[in-house]
Amino acid sequence: MNAHEQFTDDLSLYALGALEGEERLLIERHLEDCSACRRELERLRGDAALLAVSATGPKPPARSRQRLMAAIAKEPRYVPPARARKRGFSWGALAWMAAAVIIVGLLVQQNANLRRRLAEVESNSQKQDQQLLEAKQILATLTSPEAEHFTLVAGKVPPQPQGKAIYVPSSGMLIFLASNMPAISPQKAYELWLIPTSGVPIPAGLFKPDARGTAVVVKPPLPTGVEAKTFAITVEPETGSSAPTSQPIMVGIGG
Ligand SMILES: [Zn+2]
Repeated sequence: MNAHEQFTDDLSLYALGALEGEERLLIERHLEDCSACRRELERLRGDAALLAVSATGPKPPARSRQRLMAAIAKEPRYVPPARARKRGFSWGALAWMAAAVIIVGLLVQQNANLRRRLAEVESNSQKQDQQLLEAKQILATLTSPEAEHFTLVAGKVPPQPQGKAIYVPSSGMLIFLASNMPAISPQKAYELWLIPTSGVPIPAGLFKPDARGTAVVVKPPLPTGVEAKTFAITVEPETGSSAPTSQPIMVGIGG
């Protein structure tokens, strides 16, 4: 009564036509007598066919699918085991071999797609790494204490205090470079202000110039999307002010 339990594993191999020789004979003999195993075999073959024709992703060539379906249709409902044994193969076995080949083919193709996708992602990631490296180099150059700043002037005008703000309203990104700034007392600092087209001045960074009068402010915390009328600099206590407490010593010209 329990004999068919030993065939459970072999049954799926048999369904795909992968069972040969003695094992095949044994299972075919058992199938003649056991309706439970015959039903299980039908179920397994149904699963395999469903898998072969409904696999997602790249579709198998229509002609191979037609051939497979034709082979399945030709398969007799019942093959006398004696005849099947004599011929050594059946249309059924061939059809399930074809199903197995198509399934393997689909998996190989999906694998190739995944590999190509992975290569694309790796290449994108390398580009981003390169861009990040360049951004870091630019920032390091701007903020390096070793950086030498040269102010170029026409004629024999003595270098004047000068500030340059580079501002992107949509991202709130600001880079500010100052040169020839007068030294400032230890308890004081210069404060940069964004003067919006409407509303009160917004603090845009504190700075103290180095011995050569150079200062850099990179990416102070600013709200995004603020239209700037101009920028201005005041002298404030070292810890900064939330609103200007003195007249600007420098104000931007033009945008
Ligand atoms: Zn059985």
